[in-house]
Amino acid sequence: MAKNVCSFCGRSDKEVPLLIKGLSGFICSDCADAAYKIVLENKGATAQKGDFSLALSELPKPHDIKAYLDQYVIGQDDAKRYLAVSVYNHYKRLAQERGDDGVEIEKSNIIMVGPTGTGKTLLARTIAKLLKVPFTIVDATVFTEAGYVGEDVESILSRLLQVADGDVKAAERGIVFIDEIDKIARKTDNPSITRDVSGEGVQQGLLKLLEGSIVNVPPKGGRKHPDQDYVHVDTHNILFICGGAFDGIERKIAQRLNTHVVGFNSIQNTRSIDKNNLMKYIQPQDLKSFGLIPEIIGRLPVLTYLDSLDREALHRILLEPKNSLVKQQKKLFAMDGIDLEFSKDTLDYIVDKAVEYKLGARGLRSIMETLMMQLQYDSPSTKKAGDKLVITKEYAEKQLENSLLQEAANSR
Ligand code: ADP
Repeated sequence: MAKNVCSFCGRSDKEVPLLIKGLSGFICSDCADAAYKIVLENKGATAQKGDFSLALSELPKPHDIKAYLDQYVIGQDDAKRYLAVSVYNHYKRLAQERGDDGVEIEKSNIIMVGPTGTGKTLLARTIAKLLKVPFTIVDATVFTEAGYVGEDVESILSRLLQVADGDVKAAERGIVFIDEIDKIARKTDNPSITRDVSGEGVQQGLLKLLEGSIVNVPPKGGRKHPDQDYVHVDTHNILFICGGAFDGIERKIAQRLNTHVVGFNSIQNTRSIDKNNLMKYIQPQDLKSFGLIPEIIGRLPVLTYLDSLDREALHRILLEPKNSLVKQQKKLFAMDGIDLEFSKDTLDYIVDKAVEYKLGARGLRSIMETLMMQLQYDSPSTKKAGDKLVITKEYAEKQLENSLLQEAANSR
């Protein structure tokens, strides 16, 4: 019969203190010890990988962050500044020495309010490229109260864990962008009449994460399941950035401003109010009248807004961002050796149509695609390298007139 020997060092049971039997071999206690040390060392290395060394002097400063955002996002200066400061403070928080002076920098989660298609998600995506910590974007519309069809709020943390390659320490220092936060607003003023599975219940769940607690997270996402192993994630240091359109909130702001203008210095107040841009007067109490519970609002202390995009902004969006639609089209054609130009009145026309279709900046892209489709199809065969192609307004009109976009606009 074969001698019992350690499969790692080859020594027999007589030569080692203890020999442990496995399915198809043995390991001696000495080798088990050595293996355990290697495992510990490896764990240390992974922990270090996630231990982002945040030397403040090497991190982008708020001005740098804003300058970077400026390359991709037009306007929205307030939101950019708030975002830049929030992210920088988040780094400071992570870098802070604890205990020496008793001053602990608190987390400042941020909420951005602004009409749809004005750049909230774009801001989040753009800043993500610059971040030194794990970052993920989640959509609040998929969340429902535990036990209902949809996702648990905790799945936010599963995503963050995935981005951090399962490194819990790294995930615990990450940033989460929660889009469409307004969709979990309470639907009615009386929460008890019917179950509000995607409203207040979800807000309560979210509150736990925002406040900072230890949360059991199913590592692979999905629903919690009694048989599953959970990972414990501490959310104290996770920064939450929320965004939402809060459709109709201007009415609430107007109501509030109106009630406030009665009084001592009412004349001054009414004079200084810019009625076309009420969003900039947004206050936490407006979010409350929209249906966010006060506890959530309290946990989102930094409130900023995005402007709706006017014609000038749409024009700039066509041309100026680093990967603007015009630059992208030019590049596509340049790859066939064709020099593409848009006449000025064509650009005005595209902006006009985006306004007419009420699609905002999102519409610019569909209009551009519709407009360029036929040329993208033909020109690789009909044009040759070195040719110049100018898109005129007449051509643009012809392309858009019979398009599905126009039909959709007409049928509205
Ligand atoms: P939302 O505010 O609804 O999150 P998005 O950020 O998704 O809007 O914007 C939709 C698209 O419109 C973006 O992908 C981008 O192409 C364009 N866009 C919107 N706002 C801006 C902006 N301020 N600057 C540049 N592009 C913008």
